[in-house]
Amino acid sequence: MIDPATEKVIAEVELADEAAADAAIERARAAAPGWAAVAPGDRARLLRRFAEQVDADLDELARLEVANAGHTIGNARWEAGNVRDVLHYAAGIPERLLGSQIPVSGGVNITFNEPLGVVGVIVPWNFPMPIAAWGFGPALAAGNTVVVKPAEATPLTALRLAELAARAGLPDGVFQVVLGAGAVVGQRFVTHPAVRKVVFTGSTVVGKQIMAGCAAQVKRVTLELGGKSANIVFADADLERAAATAPYGVFDNAGQDCCARSRILVQREVFDRFLELLEPAVRGVRVGDPNDEATEMGPLISAAHRERVMGFVEPSTVAYTGACPSGPGFWYPPTVVLPNGASDRVLTEEVFGPVVAVLPFEDEADAVRIANATDYGLSGSIWTSDVGRALRVSRAVEAGNLSVNSHSSVRYWTPFGGFKQSGLGRELGPDAASAFTETKNVFIAT
Ligand code: NAP
Ligand code: MG
Repeated sequence: MIDPATEKVIAEVELADEAAADAAIERARAAAPGWAAVAPGDRARLLRRFAEQVDADLDELARLEVANAGHTIGNARWEAGNVRDVLHYAAGIPERLLGSQIPVSGGVNITFNEPLGVVGVIVPWNFPMPIAAWGFGPALAAGNTVVVKPAEATPLTALRLAELAARAGLPDGVFQVVLGAGAVVGQRFVTHPAVRKVVFTGSTVVGKQIMAGCAAQVKRVTLELGGKSANIVFADADLERAAATAPYGVFDNAGQDCCARSRILVQREVFDRFLELLEPAVRGVRVGDPNDEATEMGPLISAAHRERVMGFVEPSTVAYTGACPSGPGFWYPPTVVLPNGASDRVLTEEVFGPVVAVLPFEDEADAVRIANATDYGLSGSIWTSDVGRALRVSRAVEAGNLSVNSHSSVRYWTPFGGFKQSGLGRELGPDAASAFTETKNVFIAT
């Protein structure tokens, strides 16, 4: 494992081969009936203990993520705290997994929420902790056993979570972490018949392969994929605040965020003014040592990823950039580009780095048209002082998670997921567990 801020090797891990993945899946299969039979209150208690272990270990988990993923310490603490909160929320599920009694004649009709069995969770490198928890929290709560495959680049916090689960007393085989290549371990989750559902977060390209692979067994999937989200700034907005917060909306986690508002759409009459206001905000982003509490943006995940990001910027017109340290470390400065026409790759493809394209629009209809001119539909922001417009545009933008006069995307108690090629299904929120159960209908003749 490489620390992206120093390029130093910080750990070595052993990768599972297909046989090791199979062995983990078999253990999960063997543990499934026992876990499903645990009394709801006891399952809840174990999840609460798991949450408490995470809380007690919060700083350690955060430091590990800083070292392994280059996240700023502030973000990493939030991420570990999110795992704790997702687990506490999940602990409220077991006793509330209600079925129904539906009136029929000649008998009684009952529905049950049956667990699926083994759930495989495939996690990307950009938010290793929360994204894993959004899958395993509700899956465990609903009575499934779970195998997690972290990204090869960032396995350390997942390993730590497995230790904490064991310490909390989760029975053997209920929660396992399997390190390995996507094409080996991840693929095995797709092809192994004992895995009844795959939760995949990652690129749209791989997501499509996962979905096609799962089709062979009509295996359930949840897909959380890429994004090309719009931050729409109307002329009637609080421009100062819109400009001051726009960097946070796209450069958080160095832009390696599926919800990054990587296109800023600004109404024509305030376009120049907005670009002026944005400049000091971009130049002011504090990029550097992720262990420093004051740092707002860390490095990119790898040298290869930085090359990819540079590939987007080179053909573009750069308006201005912020500062960043010189090496070692995979640094890249916050960068504002002016796209060369509607087909510029910087407007159509996910950069997944600290690069934002700013472009003008004419009126409300034009803003919605441009916002929707993408295969993605994950998130977005709308800045306006007109509440009617805020609601109209929120309804018209094809995206799963929108915020008005804000850039917030994720709360563990509200649903999260994408429209169009940003994904399939929803995570988090009050219905999270229903993605991990099958409804069974039973009629009893009386
Ligand atoms: P990725 O290349 O698609 O990989 C994601 C995960 O899938 C990794 O664990 C990877 O393992 C594994 N994988 C790769 N190929 C596989 C295959 N053929 N079969 C099974 N598993 C396979 O994505 P990434 O580059 O790590 O992550 C960035 C992407 O994630 C971005 O597109 C971003 O938008 C998306 N993302 C979406 C959300 C959301 O909620 N919508 C959230 C965060 C990130 P290895 O890397 O170990 O090979
Ligand atoms: Mg990849």
